[in-house]
Amino acid sequence: MEDLIIIGAGPAGLTAGIYAARARLKTLLLERLAPGGQVLTTDRVENYPGFVEGISGFELVDRMKRQAERFGLKIENQEVARLKFNSEIKTVVTDRGELEARALILACGATPQKLGIEGESMLTGKGVSYCATCDGPFYRDQEVALVGGGDTAIEEALFLARFAGKIHVIHRRDELRATKLLQERAFAEEKIEFVWDSIASRIVGESGVEGIDLKNVKTDKEFRLPVQGVFVFIGTNPNNELVKDFVKLDERGFVIANNDMETSVPGLFVAGDIRSKLLRQISTAVGEGATAAFAAEKYIDSQK
Ligand code: NAP
Repeated sequence: MEDLIIIGAGPAGLTAGIYAARARLKTLLLERLAPGGQVLTTDRVENYPGFVEGISGFELVDRMKRQAERFGLKIENQEVARLKFNSEIKTVVTDRGELEARALILACGATPQKLGIEGESMLTGKGVSYCATCDGPFYRDQEVALVGGGDTAIEEALFLARFAGKIHVIHRRDELRATKLLQERAFAEEKIEFVWDSIASRIVGESGVEGIDLKNVKTDKEFRLPVQGVFVFIGTNPNNELVKDFVKLDERGFVIANNDMETSVPGLFVAGDIRSKLLRQISTAVGEGATAAFAAEKYIDSQK
């Protein structure tokens, strides 16, 4: 049996792993795919302290992973199907069998929100994308639409400007939510054009994207923008499937935890984007990962 199982190897899970391994807890970190989480889709991280010139998302998490392994953290690729909380022992059912631990840290993160409009799922991977870092280079000198007005949307629009000929940023209001510095950069970028007060109603195309149908919410005017790609950055949904039936969630499904990362279930801690909170950043995720590991250590000691 493990002392601690951490589920999810983004910055929150890897940091929890570093702290747990240094505390000499018998710890296993489980990840479905490769370690990294959403940060892997970020080309350049500019606001994580310590990297004056910024650092690529891939390199940052790779460093975190190597750091955790240096302290002896075990990281395995196993997809978790279910959790069982019958007693003080937590059972983690994976695609390879059952594992047991005294405490769990859930750091499964969040997944991009879909628009939920006609044509979106049919054309996903054929012109509709949720990752500019992954797909941006396919749109060299082409025209693309990008939906959203938050930090992710504006960062990704600026990244796309390296490749695309024009980026139409479609936002449902006439003011961006993104941080002011990103706004200034976007307004100064000639390739970025804003389509204000507009919502998307349909993505048009057969084997690839040919356009996006929009409606101005103030005038009710409907119009089509001919584009070859559509990027969607309208927020995220928590990956709460494993716990949604037995842990307290907020109205959007994010897991509620106190300052010590304790959830409503004793011995179950959370960290990172899955947690209900104000600010989803790498810097907040790592702080929560460290706290969750420390709190889990105290919990495990109290159970022994
Ligand atoms: P977000 O801050 O929730 O922004 C989502 C954007 O999409 C908002 O502009 C919202 O419009 C719009 N939107 C939501 N639902 C929509 C819909 N159905 N149709 C059209 N537009 C819709 O999400 P995010 O940008 O992914 O950021 C998530 C978190 O990560 C935030 O805390 C953010 O600060 C953080 N983040 C930080 C950085 C950075 O610091 N460099 C980078 C990326 C993300 P409204 O504005 O009208 O609500």
